[in-house]
Amino acid sequence: MTNLVIPAATQVTLPIKGSDDLFPVRRIYCIGRNYAEHAVEMGFDPKDDPFFFQKNPNNVDLTGKFPYPPESKDVHHEMEMVFALKSGGSNIAEKDAFKHIFGFAIGLDMTRRDLQGISKKTGRPWEIGKAFERSAPMGPLTKIEECGNMDSGRITLKVNSEVRQDGDLNMMIWKIPMQIAHLSRFYDIAAGDLVMTGTPAGVGPVVKGDKLECSIDKLGKIEVVVI
Ligand code: MN
Repeated sequence: MTNLVIPAATQVTLPIKGSDDLFPVRRIYCIGRNYAEHAVEMGFDPKDDPFFFQKNPNNVDLTGKFPYPPESKDVHHEMEMVFALKSGGSNIAEKDAFKHIFGFAIGLDMTRRDLQGISKKTGRPWEIGKAFERSAPMGPLTKIEECGNMDSGRITLKVNSEVRQDGDLNMMIWKIPMQIAHLSRFYDIAAGDLVMTGTPAGVGPVVKGDKLECSIDKLGKIEVVVI
C-alpha cells in the first residue's frame, strides 16, 4: 500500500435535512449577473451571455460565522440559491437537467467588491475577490424530492433585521436547466458539484457584528454573523 506524503485534505461535505448522511462537494460553479435588476445595479446589460466563475470547495463554511477577510474594505453579501448535482456529464440537454439534481441549499457568495473591481478594470481573474477563505457560507441541502424544482419562491436577505435583498427565484435570467446545459458544454460536470445561481438586486457592504438572515421559500433560513 502506498502512503500519501502529506495528509490528504479533508473532504468538504454539506449536511442533508432529515438525514445523517453527508453530501461530498467536488466543485463550486457560480453564475454572474443572473437577476436583471442586479445586472443593472452592477452596470451591465442583462441580455449578455451567461458566464461562470468558481469558488473552491473548501471555501464552504457551515459555522454561521463569517470572519471579515483581509485586504478588503468593501466586502458585500450576495444572497443565492445553490443546487447540488448527484450526477453529471457533458452536453446535457435542458429537458434532462433536473434528473441530475440532488437538492438545494441557501448560500452566500461573499465578495471582496473592491478587489473584484480592480480585477474587472485590469482584466485579471476574479478569484481574489470571490474565492477566499470561508467566502461561501451555506446551509444544509434539502432533497429535490422534498422541495421540488425550486423554479419559483421568495429569496430574501436581511441585515440586522432590515430587508436588503428581496426577489423571486422565477426572476433568474438563466434558469436552472439552462445553467446545467451551458456548464456541461464547457465542463464535465459531475456528482458533487454545486452551482450558486446568482443574486437578486440589493447587494451591499457588511461590517463586523452584522447579522445576516437568509431565507428561501421551502429551504428555510440560515443566519450568519460577521466576526
Ligand atoms: Mn454571486
